[in-house]
Amino acid sequence: MRCYQVLREYDVAVLGIGMAGSIAAFIASMRGCDVAILARGYGATALSSGCIDVLGYVNGNYVRNTLKGLKELELTNPKHPYIVIGRGWKGAKEILSNAFNNLPRELNMLYEGNLEMNMSVLTQFGTYKPTSFIQRTMKNSTLTKCREFRKILVLGIKEYLEFDPQLFTSFISKFLQNTEFCIKFIVDKIKLDLNNVQDLSSITISQLITEPKIFKKLKEELCRVVVKRNPDLVLIPAILSTESREAVTQLSELESSCKCVISELPASPPSVPGLRIQNLLLEILRNREIDIYLCREVKASIHNSKCTSIKCIRSYHDMKVIEIRSRNFIIATGDIISGGIQSTYSIENEAIIKEYKEPILNMPLYIPIQRKFIDIDIFNTEKHSILEIGIEFDENLRPIFGNEVLFDNLYVAGSILAHYNFIAEKSGLGVAIATGYKAGIEASKT
Ligand SMILES: Cc1cc2nc3c(=O)[nH]c(=O)nc-3n(C[C@H](O)[C@H](O)[C@H](O)COP(=O)(O)OP(=O)(O)OC[C@H]3O[C@@H](n4cnc5c(N)ncnc54)[C@H](O)[C@@H]3O)c2cc1C
Repeated sequence: MRCYQVLREYDVAVLGIGMAGSIAAFIASMRGCDVAILARGYGATALSSGCIDVLGYVNGNYVRNTLKGLKELELTNPKHPYIVIGRGWKGAKEILSNAFNNLPRELNMLYEGNLEMNMSVLTQFGTYKPTSFIQRTMKNSTLTKCREFRKILVLGIKEYLEFDPQLFTSFISKFLQNTEFCIKFIVDKIKLDLNNVQDLSSITISQLITEPKIFKKLKEELCRVVVKRNPDLVLIPAILSTESREAVTQLSELESSCKCVISELPASPPSVPGLRIQNLLLEILRNREIDIYLCREVKASIHNSKCTSIKCIRSYHDMKVIEIRSRNFIIATGDIISGGIQSTYSIENEAIIKEYKEPILNMPLYIPIQRKFIDIDIFNTEKHSILEIGIEFDENLRPIFGNEVLFDNLYVAGSILAHYNFIAEKSGLGVAIATGYKAGIEASKT
């Protein structure tokens, strides 16, 4: 068996198949480049709630108009990826508009929303958060939409313990007290009789209801509760198909059978709506005939400040290695969550020393002056400064150290970038899309 194989040369090789890598690869391919993607896994897409956050908070303040928020962002954080790649808030506005106008058609069809006004979307936890784009199956799960309905039923599923409609309602009612949103919720639960299993994940339920018999049961139970409670909107956890088109078809079938508006709530990880995006990205990349190589480990070769090739170990078992050569490279390997940045511990003089490194090219990292890196409260909008650790970059997304560009033919995109905090800002998939778009354009230039 041949264990080492040098494959043909590509125009652009992208490392990472999360949102940033996928958009970069898509854009480079649309611009006529021969593109390969190498990745160890699928990244953080499926962890997300399925909403595309662009800019929800600046300095802790809620952003109503995303594009106006950029002006404020430039004042408080001029090194933010949006501001750097746009060379200021006006350019950032233009790049974001172009990036979202050039999204793959299939991804566009999955979403409703715009870059102007943030929506306050309800979450499965009974909170709400600012976001720019929501999936069509969730289109009535925002505070503004909910206000249009007279009677809203929050529906749980007995076999799905992670979503408790009672808890949801008590939280959201507390949050909405003394606000302009006077919304009343009622609760109920249905049972799908899934082989007497008591505790299923949303993803398992989503897979099970693709079976006609189980979907029929869901429909019957839903319609029964609608007749009994007479709501005009039913909020359900996100359990419809992980295939976006099928999810839309399922929803309209449920709505027309039960004669009621139904809307999914954004989910907690690993989420069905997040998986929908991941599946759709894969489909889009395959349709463009982009070669995808899944690797256990990758190593870069450098010659005269140029990256020349990437070696990809396909399997440890038979040490099968392939080498991809390319004119340009894009590193979109994510943050500490996906392994784009790794942390190690050592003990020196009885103290624990924590270090961070970028494992593929050992690029220098920006590390913020230590605040509390991780907070026990995952939704804390001020902390988790661990997320700001990353690679510094210039306006063309080339990695820099001080003022020096590190490689002539390499670009960085997505959450491996320094100087932003997607939890504090609610900007995760927005930054991945804008920087993936820009990196795709830069890498496709000769
Ligand atoms: C729990 C959670 C919930 C979130 N919810 C939302 C939300 O609702 N809305 C929102 O907008 N954002 C959300 N985010 C943020 C958002 O998901 C991320 O910011 C975004 O997905 C980052 O995309 P990326 O492409 O930069 O990186 P990733 O998606 O992390 O992709 C990195 C890619 O690089 C690969 N990789 C890593 N290391 C290597 C290596 N050494 N060799 C080869 N490949 C490698 C990975 O396998 C993966 O393919 C959430 C994040 C988390 C963790």
